[in-house]
Amino acid sequence: MPDNVNVPPSITESTAIGERVVVTSPGGRSRHAGVLLPPVKDGEPHRVHTDKGRVVRLDGTWLVAPERSAADRRRDRRRRCCDAGRPIYRYEDLPSAQLATRTMLRKQFRRRPAEGQDPVASYMVHRGFAPLYAVIDAKRLPPLPPVRKAAWDRARTCARCGATQATLYTKGLDGRRYCEGCHEPAAAAWWYGERATGRTTAAAWAAELLADMRRDPDKVALLYVGYPTSTMSQTVRAETWKGEVLFSARVCDSDTFYREGQDTHPAELADAFRRLGGRRLLSWRGEENWLSRLQEAMHEHVGDLDLTFAGGRAGPHWDEWQAERPPLIEPHPFQYQHQLRRQEDPSCRPPELLAHVRHVVTEMAIRACHWHLVTCPECELSLPFGTSAAADRWAKQHSETGHTISHRTEPGDIVPSAVNRR
Ligand SMILES: [Zn+2]
Ligand SMILES: [Zn+2]
Repeated sequence: MPDNVNVPPSITESTAIGERVVVTSPGGRSRHAGVLLPPVKDGEPHRVHTDKGRVVRLDGTWLVAPERSAADRRRDRRRRCCDAGRPIYRYEDLPSAQLATRTMLRKQFRRRPAEGQDPVASYMVHRGFAPLYAVIDAKRLPPLPPVRKAAWDRARTCARCGATQATLYTKGLDGRRYCEGCHEPAAAAWWYGERATGRTTAAAWAAELLADMRRDPDKVALLYVGYPTSTMSQTVRAETWKGEVLFSARVCDSDTFYREGQDTHPAELADAFRRLGGRRLLSWRGEENWLSRLQEAMHEHVGDLDLTFAGGRAGPHWDEWQAERPPLIEPHPFQYQHQLRRQEDPSCRPPELLAHVRHVVTEMAIRACHWHLVTCPECELSLPFGTSAAADRWAKQHSETGHTISHRTEPGDIVPSAVNRR
């Protein structure tokens, strides 16, 4: 460091500007860790910007020592100084309240280096070094207009607990920003909110469909368009709600793979397909692709059929109704495993599958919603599950800890308050 009459005697050659130091007050009463900064003007004392945000002027009575012991520094084989002789910081050891690059100054502090302000340290980036400036010496940028200021503050405030920081918080599943501790509880709240909405929607959808069917039993048709097999044929089956089979066939639209006696050509099904016109078509998962492919194949024989899945798909609504989560894996089950579990197809046999469609629609329309609550007092954990099977699975897995678990059922759409560990 340059010769300077005002440098306290305790600043030795092992301590350079921009380095982390520990200062001890004259009486030895208080100690602060911080970053050593140059004087504001020539002839003034050096300063230390402490981690608590205080600026200590080193008037010669304070003792200054490097934060890391000499032995520690010797052991660290990494480069300590850049070519300009400034100390190097890396992502993991940057004192981010005291030192910032030009970009960090703008984005985190809304400041820029003052005229003539020299960098005091260097920040290691993927290719070389970026100069680091003392935050307290940088100049404030003009205030943002109110709308942008609000957005600026919002991005630096945890949407759950209200904590603030200079850097942006990361976004949660709901698109709002949270501090580290709030991500998991916020994700849990979001997940249960989605499930409550999903169940209400599923119940309303099923009730409306059932009401429509009661008004006109012939209007609703259940349709199964099977997945194509290696022989390029697919099983197609349509039934009325009451179970009257409108048609059932193995359709092959490829001349190459057509098997005489086993397959039906799309042209032969034209009349049958016409009977679907004007009905609400209900499927398990909505194999729209195959329906459009069939329509295309039939187009040359019967013209445009204009069929749609206006009745909807029972499967996705059933997933919502079951409100099942993938297996819980600690420590962030909601943040990282928030996908709704897809309920298994009950059967690949068309009549059974269509019977299942009828069953789930009826169930969703007339049965009340229940939440299955599993509580572990020892873990202060109380988790609502959509199905008793899912609740049992978790309870079984958790009982391996030897904790006493209790079960309770709560009716209704509203999710019982979930107690999380945090
Ligand atoms: Zn928070
Ligand atoms: Zn427990």
